[in-house]
Amino acid sequence: MKRRDFIGNTLAIGGLTSVIPISQLYSNVQKKLSHQNKKTNYDVIVIGVGSMGSSTCYQIAKQGYSVLGLEQFDIPHEMGSHGGQSRIIRKAYFEHPNYVPLLERAYENWKSLEQEVSNQIYFKTGLLYFGPSKHPLITGTQKSAKKYDIQVNEFNRKEQIDKFPQFKIPNDYSNLIEVDAGFVTPERAILTYTKQALKHKATIHINEKTLQWSKKDGVIKVKTNKQTYYCKKLVLTAGAWNSKFSKLKNLEVTRQVMFWAKPRNINMFKLNKFPCWTFADPTINGIYYGFPNLSNSSFGEPPGIKFAHHTKGTLTDYDAVNKNISIDEQRTVIEAIRKFIPEGIDSISSIKTCLYTYSPDEDFILDFYNENKDVVIGAGFSGHGFKFASVIGEIIAELVIKGKSIHPINFLKSNRFNG
Ligand SMILES: Cc1cc2nc3c(=O)[nH]c(=O)nc-3n(C[C@H](O)[C@H](O)[C@H](O)COP(=O)(O)OP(=O)(O)OC[C@H]3O[C@@H](n4cnc5c(N)ncnc54)[C@H](O)[C@@H]3O)c2cc1C
Repeated sequence: MKRRDFIGNTLAIGGLTSVIPISQLYSNVQKKLSHQNKKTNYDVIVIGVGSMGSSTCYQIAKQGYSVLGLEQFDIPHEMGSHGGQSRIIRKAYFEHPNYVPLLERAYENWKSLEQEVSNQIYFKTGLLYFGPSKHPLITGTQKSAKKYDIQVNEFNRKEQIDKFPQFKIPNDYSNLIEVDAGFVTPERAILTYTKQALKHKATIHINEKTLQWSKKDGVIKVKTNKQTYYCKKLVLTAGAWNSKFSKLKNLEVTRQVMFWAKPRNINMFKLNKFPCWTFADPTINGIYYGFPNLSNSSFGEPPGIKFAHHTKGTLTDYDAVNKNISIDEQRTVIEAIRKFIPEGIDSISSIKTCLYTYSPDEDFILDFYNENKDVVIGAGFSGHGFKFASVIGEIIAELVIKGKSIHPINFLKSNRFNG
């Protein structure tokens, strides 16, 4: 771990300066979606065009294969796991260092997508971590940073107050900043992948629900509420709905809550002045995390600083999510944030729900389905998958087209639950 050479341009926004508004990108994609062919035979069908499915459609179409992406709702939407403007991206993975090589590639792929379309998707804000020095959030981050030489800097209380006066952090907590971390924009990323997939002649159907699939004599049949299609290879990237299309009955879907607040002094919380942050505290389960204030003109509604509690929410039926947030649920999160960011919440501007799909060990499942080399599944992203979407699409395309991936994904095999 490097020490102290951190501050300087930590909060500069990296990459490109062009930020195409979500509304403009959306209408652009909608126009293209309305001119589509009516073919029923494809090389590959992708069930679910969300985070992982949109990136997969792009990667497969780019290589010249005919691909049909089937999405039950609009692109994007707020019924699954990708709604809500922003997702944290970081490399010093506290969950396990095994993820770091995948993250290195994910960063490269986000950058090349940005360059291809001249639109910014990754925003480098730095990520401030704080918590008791023995907490896995701190020790895990330090471990991955050390193993892969990722720029994570430790700093003391005085430096913290100088550089990040928005936070009130206990003296005995560790403070770290991961310089190249920040956030990616899920709706913009999914729309961009969809747009680029269409440019490479993918067919994408929205508001078309897949009902079932089967395989006979080497041909895969996919039935939707509108049509029956045939393909050689199938991809299952249906997020919270993946258990409907697979025998993975050990996936748990939970309802998670995201908050947006108007801060007391908005200038202190602006993009460029305020980093992404995450903390652990002995009095709470899981961790809390949040983002700078984002303008609606570039980032879409709702306005404010967004924050959330990363812990297992209540189990839910993916088709009947309770969208009402109780006063108790609100109070717990608001109190936790106010303790450490006293000026962060003047009033709450919006609260939304979103779905996590947990695998039993909270690691992803990225593999051939049921030893069947014609079907690939990406599932169980367990509330930490979005930052990887750019590399997951590439890996799924490799598995579909070449039958193997050059990326280190053995730890994500589905048979790890068998014994
Ligand atoms: C509140 C919250 C905060 C998060 N924060 C972060 C973060 O900071 N960083 C991070 O990296 N990750 C984060 N995540 C996790 C990340 O967003 C998910 O891991 C990721 O979006 C999962 O992608 P997916 O493709 O599996 O699911 P989705 O993006 O939901 O895509 C699945 C798609 O399949 C479609 N589908 C399902 N069934 C059918 C059907 N029958 N027919 C057609 N289409 C179908 C769905 O409609 C959906 O569009 C967060 C998630 C939530 C909920």
